[in-house]
Amino acid sequence: MPAPSALPDFFNQLRPRIAGELRTDAFYRTLYSTDASLYQVMPYGVLLPKTVDDVQAALELAARYRIPIVPRTAGTSLAGQAVNEALVIDFTSHLNRILEVNAEERWVRVQPGVVLDHLNQYLRPFDLQYGPDPASSNRAALGGIVANNATGSHSIVYGMTADHVLETDVILADGTRTRFGFLNPAELDAKHTRGDFEGSLYRKIRATLENPANISAIREGTPRHWRRCGGYNVERLLGDGNFSYRLPQDTR
Ligand SMILES: Cc1cc2nc3c(=O)[nH]c(=O)nc-3n(C[C@H](O)[C@H](O)[C@H](O)COP(=O)(O)OP(=O)(O)OC[C@H]3O[C@@H](n4cnc5c(N)ncnc54)[C@H](O)[C@@H]3O)c2cc1C
Repeated sequence: MPAPSALPDFFNQLRPRIAGELRTDAFYRTLYSTDASLYQVMPYGVLLPKTVDDVQAALELAARYRIPIVPRTAGTSLAGQAVNEALVIDFTSHLNRILEVNAEERWVRVQPGVVLDHLNQYLRPFDLQYGPDPASSNRAALGGIVANNATGSHSIVYGMTADHVLETDVILADGTRTRFGFLNPAELDAKHTRGDFEGSLYRKIRATLENPANISAIREGTPRHWRRCGGYNVERLLGDGNFSYRLPQDTR
C-alpha cells in the first residue's frame, strides 16, 4: 500500500514534541521490518520514546493524521504482531524501568520495556517472581507479554498473564490517558456516563455484553480449554452473568 500522504506532516509535527528519537532512515526501518515471525514489512518510521509524553504525542498525532502505529518491545512475537506499515514505537530503549515493588501485597509496577528475566532477578531478594514464564523470557518484555497474554511451561501452576495484571496505564487511540483496572459498581457506572472516547468504549462493551445473542455466542463459542491467547477474552468480562470487570488474581 502507498504510504499515507499525511506522513510528512505527521513526522514534522511529531519531531519537535518528543524528547526521544524519531528515525525514518532506511537502516532503522529495515531493522524494525522483521520480528520472530516469517513476515517482513517495512514500517514508516520508528519512535524510541524517552517519556510517556512522547508516546502520548505520537498517539494524539497518529489519530489526527490517521497514521497506524505498532507498539513493540522485544519483537519475539511469532505471528507478525510487531511489524506493519506503521510507526513502530519501541519501548525497550528508555521506558524500561521497574517503578515500584510492594512485597507485602505482592505486586510490582513496571514500564513496558522491562525484560521478564530482569524483573525476576530483581524480585528474587523479595522471594517473589512473576509467574507466567514464556520461553523467550530472556528477551521478551512486559509490554509484549501483557499484549500477547503470554504464558509458559508452568502455565498449569501460574495461569496466563491476564490472570496477573491488576492495572494498566494506557493511552487510548485518541491520545488520551487512562487506567484500566478493578472498578466497583459505582465507578463502573460513572465510566459509562463519560462523554469522551473512554466512555464510548465502556458503553460499547456493555452493549455488546448485554446482547443475549452475544452472550450465548460467547458461552457456546469460547473453547473449553483455558490456555488460549487468541481473540479478545470477552468471556472473562461475562463472568457469572453479571458484568464483572474484576480479574481473578485481584484479591484487594
Ligand atoms: C524462541 C521463542 C519462544 C517463545 N516461547 C513462548 C512461550 O513459551 N509462551 C508464549 O506465550 N510466547 C512465546 N513466544 C512468543 C513471544 O516471545 C511472547 O509472546 C512474548 O511475550 C512477546 O514479548 P515481546 O516483548 O517480544 O513482544 P513483541 O513481539 O514486541 O510484541 C508483542 C505484542 O505486544 C504489543 N505490544 C508491545 N508493547 C506494547 C505496549 N507497550 N502497549 C501495547 N501493546 C504492546 C505489540 O504490538 C505486539 O502486538 C516465544 C517466542 C520465541 C521466539
